[in-house]
Amino acid sequence: MTTAALDTAGVLVAGEAREGRGEEQTIFEPATGVEVTALRLASTADVDDAVRAAAAALAGRWGRTSAPQRSRLLHGLADAIEADAEKLVEIETRNVGKAVTAVRGEVGAAAAVLRYYASVAGSIEGSANPIGGSLTAYTLRESVGVCGQIVPWNYPLSMAVAKVAPALAAGCSVVLKPDALTPLSALRLGRLALEAGIPPGALNVVPGDGPTIGGHLVAHPEVRKVSFTGSTATGAEVMKAGAPLVKRLTLELGGKSPSLVFADADLGEAVKGCVWSVYSAAGQSCEARSRVLVEREIHDEFLTRFVERAALLRVGDPLAEDTQIGSLISTRHRDRVHELVEAARDQGAQVHCGGEVPSGDGAFYPPTTISDPDHGLAIEQAEVFGPVATVVPFDGEDEAVRLANDVRYGLMATVWTGDPARGPRLARRIESGTIGVNMPYTSFPGVPFGGFKQSGFGREFALETLDDYLETKSVVLWTGKKSPTPID
Ligand code: NAD
Repeated sequence: MTTAALDTAGVLVAGEAREGRGEEQTIFEPATGVEVTALRLASTADVDDAVRAAAAALAGRWGRTSAPQRSRLLHGLADAIEADAEKLVEIETRNVGKAVTAVRGEVGAAAAVLRYYASVAGSIEGSANPIGGSLTAYTLRESVGVCGQIVPWNYPLSMAVAKVAPALAAGCSVVLKPDALTPLSALRLGRLALEAGIPPGALNVVPGDGPTIGGHLVAHPEVRKVSFTGSTATGAEVMKAGAPLVKRLTLELGGKSPSLVFADADLGEAVKGCVWSVYSAAGQSCEARSRVLVEREIHDEFLTRFVERAALLRVGDPLAEDTQIGSLISTRHRDRVHELVEAARDQGAQVHCGGEVPSGDGAFYPPTTISDPDHGLAIEQAEVFGPVATVVPFDGEDEAVRLANDVRYGLMATVWTGDPARGPRLARRIESGTIGVNMPYTSFPGVPFGGFKQSGFGREFALETLDDYLETKSVVLWTGKKSPTPID
């Protein structure tokens, strides 16, 4: 990818793609370390302009669109993404370093999410309550207003669309802040939205530093709602910053999710599914099931087969069609992942494959499998966000559930079993927002996705997500002649 192939504008505000007034950010390909472009990203003044543009859009043409019009516009944006898919896939793959086959799926899923919200936009409706006599009440569903949406670097386009689609469907306007490392696909999304006819100012894109630019957006008095995806620590900062102005919040935060493999499971399917669940996206997924809990009687065989499969995964050039695992986001992040592996090794855990920083360029780290970690170790409790799995034995359902729940997170869990009653039974006992039963994939349009405990609150990808972007206004109507006011 050459610089000429990229949009060089660092912000998109009020329908204009232009240089930002903030820091210059060099954008690297993490898989090669090569610089692809440098962009001037947003300053706090750009955020102010973006919020002003978003408010003006609500006061203008965008604020007057009907649900059917918004539906048509969202379908138009999905069409534009599909038409531009090849370019979006290349940009995202280069910028994030993930395998191109995975990124292709993400771009397709982004269009599908837009189509889902295009389809349900018309379901937004109030209700009437004929209380009796001359008294009637009814409700209006109105957009919350200007929304600040903050997304991380691991799924820059698909996370952006997961937030933008329901907000626009509900008639809100958006100021979207991508991570400073991965602004390219979100900026392109903003341009595609304009091409699809979404009015200027309805979607503004202001990439920049987290605490300065993200913090300014969260604290901005005109921003009524903040939707944030990122780490639990930052989510707590966002709550604090939003508290003085009682901001509405959705927080999609970290995870430390388990797979639970029972002795009656189809072992081949379970191994394949568990490998995919932790190593896809090089483990840089909030829902990565990085703790593989295995019933003791099959533990040793499972571990052998899991390690064999993990070691065979093809790690390499993200743009190669046969690559299964690309690079991590940066060498800095890779070094942090490696530190956690080293600490586990020092504390007595066994490393069966991977666990070494490869020589050569790029932020690569091999699929790594660890057994026998103590339950209290950081490798069992903290989000590693890299291609690292631990395999731990358990005896019976009660212990499996105890281990699964004994972390501060609760985002995702997968149960592998041949007993048709076990999955639904455990789904009631595991504290997490999504439970898969013999099914490793996690997010589908229409299926609520979000966290229990410190994995956050609010749900995305779902019909109920629209509620987060709507206010309910009650209108109480007296149609009698004489007002019932008790004072004359
Ligand atoms: P992060 O919290 O460091 O950053 C996320 C975003 O917040 C970035 O855009 C960043 O610039 C911004 N930010 C940072 N500090 C801020 C502040 N003080 N105020 C406002 N914005 C700020 O997270 P990360 O390391 O970039 O992303 C990985 C994390 O995201 C992991 O913990 C992962 O589990 C989580 N994640 C969760 C989901 C989910 O749906 N639950 C999905 C993807 C990623």
